[in-house]
Formats: sequence, C-alpha cells, structure tokens
Amino acid sequence: MPAFDVIVIGAGPAGLLAAGEAARQCRVLLLEKMEKPARKLRITGKGRCNITNTDEWSAFEAHIFPVARLFRPAFMQFSNTALVRFLEEAGVPTVEERGRRVFPVSSRAQDVADALVRWVQRQGVALRCHSEVTRLITEGNTVTAVEVRHNGQVQTVAGHAFVVATGGLSYPATGSTGDGFRWAEDIGHTITPLRPSLVALTIANPPALPESLTLRNVSLTLLIDGRPADEAFGEMTFAGTTVDGPIVLRLSGRAVDALRQGKRVALRLNIKPALSEQQIVRRLEREMNESARQSIAALLRRWLPASLVMPCMAQAGLGSVKTVARLTDADLERIITVLTAWELPVSGYGGYERAIVTAGGVSMHDVYHKTLRSRIIENLFFAGETLDLNADTGGYNLQIAFSTGYLAGKSAASHITHHTLRIT
Ligand SMILES: Cc1cc2nc3c(=O)[nH]c(=O)nc-3n(C[C@H](O)[C@H](O)[C@H](O)COP(=O)(O)OP(=O)(O)OC[C@H]3O[C@@H](n4cnc5c(N)ncnc54)[C@H](O)[C@@H]3O)c2cc1C
Repeated sequence: MPAFDVIVIGAGPAGLLAAGEAARQCRVLLLEKMEKPARKLRITGKGRCNITNTDEWSAFEAHIFPVARLFRPAFMQFSNTALVRFLEEAGVPTVEERGRRVFPVSSRAQDVADALVRWVQRQGVALRCHSEVTRLITEGNTVTAVEVRHNGQVQTVAGHAFVVATGGLSYPATGSTGDGFRWAEDIGHTITPLRPSLVALTIANPPALPESLTLRNVSLTLLIDGRPADEAFGEMTFAGTTVDGPIVLRLSGRAVDALRQGKRVALRLNIKPALSEQQIVRRLEREMNESARQSIAALLRRWLPASLVMPCMAQAGLGSVKTVARLTDADLERIITVLTAWELPVSGYGGYERAIVTAGGVSMHDVYHKTLRSRIIENLFFAGETLDLNADTGGYNLQIAFSTGYLAGKSAASHITHHTLRIT
C-alpha cells in the first residue's frame, strides 16, 4: 500500500496550491528538485510579486491565451478574490496598485513564497526538496509511481494520483526545465508548440540604439506584414539591439508568433503620443524660429533624452545637416516621423533564459477542464505553466498557476476518495 495518496511534482505556486488543497482530504507528497521550493515565485514582479489582478472575469479573460474559456472553470473554483482572501488568511496582506495589480503589502515576493510553504506544511504535506522526478511509471492508462533522484540515489515512490506542476521552460535556473512536457508527450499527450513569451525583442540593423534607456508614457504599435496588429502604452527600455519593458513584453507574444510564421514584424514607436502632429509641428517651428543657428541636435535635445538624439538623427537621415536654419521641409517631415512613428524592424526575440513565461504546453484538449485530469491517463492531473495557458503581464500568469493548482489538487484528492469508495 503506497505511503502517499497524491504525489505532486514541482513546488512552484501551482504545485504548492495543489499539494495543500489535496492534503485537506488525503496524504500528500510534494517533490521539488531544487534546494528550496518556489524559486521562481521568489523573483516575480522584480522581487515584489504581482500576485494577481482584480479584473472581473469579463475583463480578465481578455488577457488569457490561447483560449481563455478553457481556463474559466479553474478561475471560477479559485478566483482572484478567493486568492487574495486565502493569502490574507495565510498571513500575506495585499494591496491593489495601478492597473488593478495586486502585490503583498510588504512588497516582498519571498513573503508570498514563505507563507505558501508554511501553509502546505500546516496542511500536513510531506515536502521533499532536492528530489528530482526523472520518470513517471505507467501501467496501461494509469501512473503507478514516480522515479525520484535524491542525494544521488534513485528510488521509486508509489501513489494513487499524480499532479504534474513542473512549470515551463523559462528561467531554467529556477528549476523549470520542461520535464513535464517530455513526460506528458511520452504518454500520449499533445504538446502545442513551445515558445518564449513575455520576452525582449531584437531590433534589426538599429542605428546605434542606447545601451540602457527607459522611455515612459510612449506608445508602441505592433505591425505585422505592415498592418497594425496591437498597441500598448506605457514604459519601454532600449538595451542596445534589444527592446524590453512592460509594453514590449505585452506585444511580444504576438510578435514571436508572427516571426515564427515568417511574417514581417516591426514596432512603431510614438515618443510623443500625448501631442497631435499639428501640436508637434507648431512647437518645432516655434523653437526653430527662436534660434535658427542652433544645431539640430540641440533642438532635438529639448524633445528627447540625450542618448536618443543621435539615433533619431541617423534614422531621419540628418547626420550631415548641422543647423536648424538648413533644415528643409522634407527634413522636418522626417523628424516628425521619427518622433511619432519611428519604425523599428524586429528580427528576433530573447531565449527562455530571460522569457517570463512559456507559451504552449500540454494541450487543454487533452485534459478535462472541470478537473484538469488527463483524458489519456486516468489518475494524472496537470497544473500551472505545464498547461497550454499563458497570459499578459499584470498578475494573470500567477493567477493561472494558483487557480489550476487549486483545481488539480482538489480534483486529485476527490479522484482518490471516489476510487477508494469504489474498491472498498
Ligand atoms: C522573472 C519573472 C518574473 C515574473 N513575474 C510575475 C509576476 O509578477 N506576476 C505573474 O503573474 N507572473 C509572473 N511571472 C510568471 C510566473 O512566475 C509563472 O507563470 C509561475 O511561476 C508558473 O508557476 P508554476 O507553478 O506552473 O511553475 P514554476 O513556478 O516554474 O514551478 C515549477 C516547479 O517545478 C519544479 N520542477 C521542475 N521539474 C521538476 C522535476 N523533474 N522534479 C521535481 N521538481 C521539478 C521546479 O524546480 C519549480 O520549482 C514571472 C516569471 C519570471 C521568470
């Protein structure tokens, strides 16, 4: 007779929720390959942890991909409000900030992780770190045990139900190396194409862009094959040949998909979205009249951070024109274009090392949405980033992990209870 009823693999936010929830009804073992649980959770939100977003479902669903309605049953079982209440009870008071984003009052992601670990331990979960699952052992359509490497020794641990919560492929140094995808595929599940998402984009042939510059209150339009596909307003960062920051990340998912389909991708940057073109023209003309002998660089310095002046001049083809007096109408036109519609061709994207999430995963068509149980293996459940669910920045990804973890843990426990009733 196995010592544990439910074995949860991976102690990220999804695995912790699954284990703690399952432990309300049965004996649970939580296996984590790293030296401590939830390494990724501890660095979320730049160390502050954007736990969730207070959007109602009708607004929330617009941020979930690829098919939000398949996530709905999990969200309804453990919603953003339920999560906030749960965390408060677990000793993590939260605060809502701009964009309806929720953070711990302490602004410490560590506090969220530590509270979850304390909670699973109070629930009676046996948590074992340094325990890497290397294989799922199956018999027909059932998993019977997992093979675990612990301190150089390999042992087999049997259980009645199993939850795979091993995360995606992004930030592999935190322990998420895509193990769950391999196991799921080996036993017949479809893995939808995996790719980094919420990731920096590479600019093709940039005119010596700044090594480190953050622009605030700018707008970016994503162009796919020359046509506007999406738009975002806020903050972005130039880092040499790459662009990063919240609005780039927000557009990156669609940009990556388009690049992978061989489409032409560009970002159109409006540095002055608060001003109309007419306002810009009037202001430029006034400033030019004030001093015709000033250099164009000095003029642009009034409009742009210093490190962006030369790249802008290069982009507008103004390298050789020295003073404002020598500017032609066509030059002025090009300056306005650079200020309001600077087109940055995108040639690539960052790797999993720096991607916030992995898009793709265990197909949602291979699990029952109301339980997250596999349609192929009768006692196997999936939770978190292992599933083909991902989201925008803003707290939505952690809500996916928490909601699916809760549902998978609860379902695994119920599965055992029913199974035990059937066989006794
Ligand atoms: C830098 C960064 C910042 C982020 N900030 C935010 C944010 O503020 N808000 C937000 O909503 N989302 C954020 N995210 C995304 C969010 O962290 C993830 O979506 C979430 O952690 C996924 O949870 P998970 O439990 O599914 O997987 P993970 O957190 O990846 O956890 C998986 C766990 O499984 C373990 N594991 C893997 N393989 C094995 C194995 N073979 N045996 C045993 N254990 C194994 C891993 O070690 C890991 O502990 C951020 C991500 C990154 C990288």
